[in-house]
Amino acid sequence: MELLICGTAAAEGWPALFCICEACERARELGGKNIRTRAAYMIDDRLRVDFGPDSYMHQLKYGLRYDKLEHLILTHAHSDHWYPTDVHYRRRGYSVVPPDSLMYIWGNEKVYQRFEQVNPDHWDSYKIVYKRITPWRRMDLGNGVIGVPIAAAHDSSEECVNYVLTENGRTLLIGHDTGWYEEPTWMYLSGQSLNVVLFDCTYGPNDYPRGHLGCTGVVRARDELAKRGALASDARVIATHFSHNGGWLHEDLEKFFAPHGIEVAYDGMKLTV
Ligand SMILES: [Zn+2]
Ligand SMILES: [Zn+2]
Ligand SMILES: [Zn+2]
Repeated sequence: MELLICGTAAAEGWPALFCICEACERARELGGKNIRTRAAYMIDDRLRVDFGPDSYMHQLKYGLRYDKLEHLILTHAHSDHWYPTDVHYRRRGYSVVPPDSLMYIWGNEKVYQRFEQVNPDHWDSYKIVYKRITPWRRMDLGNGVIGVPIAAAHDSSEECVNYVLTENGRTLLIGHDTGWYEEPTWMYLSGQSLNVVLFDCTYGPNDYPRGHLGCTGVVRARDELAKRGALASDARVIATHFSHNGGWLHEDLEKFFAPHGIEVAYDGMKLTV
């Protein structure tokens, strides 16, 4: 699987929309890897994980072709990950979609409801089929790719998930918008041989126990995977989903993570799983 990390920020982006904090001002000054858009991923041009308000910008920036998307996979319904208003433009009159094109959207109940709130027509009008996810139930994503939603520890008002994606024995864990996993998730991961792991680092150097992880949380989570034998020998562990409230710029994050053998994601980072 070819993975493109399109965005690496928490909800408000970095620099944040209206923010004058030091971390945002420094990011504006330095640019480069310090500019972070809302989290999303492309896998092999055919699959996308999350569709937030920067999706259109991602299309322009990375030359993406959403007309070729076959599966859109949503982790949860928070607005930085799911901006269903833009799906409206898949409808006739706004876009000429290839006649045989069908896009599958996989999400929880709240993802479904938010789509219906802003897209008043039947899903057919958008050439979309909605698939309701259930944690632990396998998803067939075509071309030999299997996805499994695993329970995240994020927001108890909806069924938030992370995803394990496997193709040809290579496995990717997309683990943003989660705090410390509950035991069933650790148990599930214990049976894996993960080649690439992305973990939530929203809090940066300030570690809080709930909803997200920070720098030390990412190290602890990696160690927990190692302890449970869940990491392949070539495993790459990458921190992502950063908030400006953490204050550490890209270089600061790299300094912290380098001795732990953990990489720091940036917008536009590409890797082969
Ligand atoms: Zn988020
Ligand atoms: Zn700020
Ligand atoms: Zn969230």
